[in-house]
Amino acid sequence: GYKFRMGLEKSRERFQAQINQLMATHRTVDEDFFEALEEVLISADVGFNTVMELTDELRDYAKLKNITETVDLKEVIVEKMIEIYERNNHISEEMNMQDDLTVILVVGVNGVGKTTSIGKIAHRYVKEGKSVMLAAGDTFRAGAINQLQVWGDRVGADVIKQSEGSDPAAVVFDAVNAAKRRGTDVLICDTAGRLQNKGNLMKELEKIKNVIKKVDENAPHEVLLVLDATTGQNALSQAKAFNEVTEITGIVLTKLDGTAKGGIVLAIKNELGIPVKFVGLGEKIDDLEVFSAENYVYGLFS
Ligand code: GDP
Repeated sequence: GYKFRMGLEKSRERFQAQINQLMATHRTVDEDFFEALEEVLISADVGFNTVMELTDELRDYAKLKNITETVDLKEVIVEKMIEIYERNNHISEEMNMQDDLTVILVVGVNGVGKTTSIGKIAHRYVKEGKSVMLAAGDTFRAGAINQLQVWGDRVGADVIKQSEGSDPAAVVFDAVNAAKRRGTDVLICDTAGRLQNKGNLMKELEKIKNVIKKVDENAPHEVLLVLDATTGQNALSQAKAFNEVTEITGIVLTKLDGTAKGGIVLAIKNELGIPVKFVGLGEKIDDLEVFSAENYVYGLFS
């Protein structure tokens, strides 16, 4: 809870200042107020469609309850945000962990914080007493394999790798087999996130999933997409694009400490139905939190 609040400081300060100013300049609940509120939410990256849904519901609520002073809507805005996040819950908000091997596939474009997030997630499970293995499936980006090895050494996770340019599906196949053999609890597979060619990426991820299924037909148990919160609406576009390429089961939203625009969480969940499972709140190994809509929205407001 506390770390979450601290990590969201930038977003919170800006958001609160804007809401307070809004309520000071618009004391009566009228169309002017709702339009100004829409602007604040859009500038916080909540996303156009989600903003419209939210303010329409607030309009109805104000009418129904006869609310005429904007201050009386402050709490309701928070509650509505949580309500909107909690909708479309067809994908579990929790990690789908197995009693035996859990296979997690991680996708995302370069620079979003994919490697760092893999390291942090691995560290988290190691701390829980689980054995963790990493598969260096990003064989395309120069340095990706070494960077993953550094994280593996740091957190105490075995790394399965081949040389740069090798077939990612072959690396992952080796890794799933090794993980089964060694009785590993969690296997986290890195992949190359080349969104430039969606057709190729789709084929590559399909191939990786198929080799995993040869060993365990119910795996991968999670396909996590890493997104950089500081890229705002771009993150939402990436989520849409990746979700067309392969079925995403959760988001890791990084660099929330570095942005004032935390509203992207709501946009992604509301428009795509994909829950945020982890958030990155800094560059260090422990700067990863399990996402909670309530902590998050209250973290933004209070
Ligand atoms: P990749 O190319 O997607 O694998 O990205 P990296 O894991 O190499 O991360 C890119 C940069 O983002 C590095 O400098 C990381 O330290 C930084 N980074 C990753 N996650 C976070 C985060 O949650 N907060 C902040 N402030 N920086 C992060």
